[in-house]
Amino acid sequence: MAARGESAFRAKQVVEWIYGKRVQDFADMTNLKPALREALAGEFRLDPVLPTNQQGSSDTTRKFLFKLARDGRYIETVLIPASPGLYGDQADRLTLCVSSQVGCAFDCKFCASGLAGLTRNLDAGEIVGQVIEAERIAQDRVDNIVFMGMGEPLANFANLTKAITIINAHWGIGIGARHITVSTSGLAPQIEKLADFEVPVRLAISLHGASDEVRERIMPVNRKYPLDRLFEALRYWSTRKKQKITFEFILIEGVNDSLEQAELLARRSRPLGAKVNLIPYNTVEGLPWKRPSVGRQEAFFRVLQGHGIPCTLRREKGHDIAAACGQLRLKQETAEGIVEAPVKA
Ligand code: SF4
Repeated sequence: MAARGESAFRAKQVVEWIYGKRVQDFADMTNLKPALREALAGEFRLDPVLPTNQQGSSDTTRKFLFKLARDGRYIETVLIPASPGLYGDQADRLTLCVSSQVGCAFDCKFCASGLAGLTRNLDAGEIVGQVIEAERIAQDRVDNIVFMGMGEPLANFANLTKAITIINAHWGIGIGARHITVSTSGLAPQIEKLADFEVPVRLAISLHGASDEVRERIMPVNRKYPLDRLFEALRYWSTRKKQKITFEFILIEGVNDSLEQAELLARRSRPLGAKVNLIPYNTVEGLPWKRPSVGRQEAFFRVLQGHGIPCTLRREKGHDIAAACGQLRLKQETAEGIVEAPVKA
């Protein structure tokens, strides 16, 4: 608006139409001059993500498949009802798991999102658009945002932080910083950058291995940023931010579910005061991993408890979205011939 020579007052009006009144068409911005409405409509769009498919119902986890208006690619966004073990501390809260990229370059071995590699970053409008569309479909306000969908959010730092600014702002979506969680596979330098970012978001680390040897098997990113380097960044985070760090740990049979891993995990978590979320692995089509038995999951959990580590073990089926994320989009893009059916080595 400044570049067009329009006043700050006019800019505020546009912002109010977009985030306050949530109009979907510039023509509805009735307090703007028709010429300005037309000019804006010619240059911008208000529907960066288009709902195309949905799984689940209003009282369960709902997965939305959104088509990107810009290039027809697909992303997934997941709306999760109250879950005390997840990010909402209270019941009756809605959590939205948003995507930050189309595909992902990091190739974590348990994840469907990385199966076809990275296509592109989402822009800030496409990230915020997921929140606006989900709220429109649910006809309710989202309470928590987790950047845990497709993509590595910290590999798209500029758009991520721009989107967070809008999601957090009182003039934007208005979600408090404590209700926004960025989840990363462990990009150490970007964690340090995020620690210096002004919005005090929460941080979750996809850890999934408590020694380099085990973590490397599952997460190739560990070769670039081994655990010592990652934990150096986490210590820096702790000096800059008050919120506790969360470690996500997907339990995979015979890979990372030994009691020795549990001991190591406890030892790493304690100095940071970190919380651990244990997530029994959810089968992904085309991937070889299995979920450990309930007995084994609980033994792992008890080791952490024994060390006084705040810890949850997710039992509900519908909430195991982290590992399942990306499957819907892959099916759609494979069906349309946008990507070839991926083969995992
Ligand atoms: S878990 Fe996250 S970082 Fe790893 S491949 Fe999947 S989307 Fe990428």
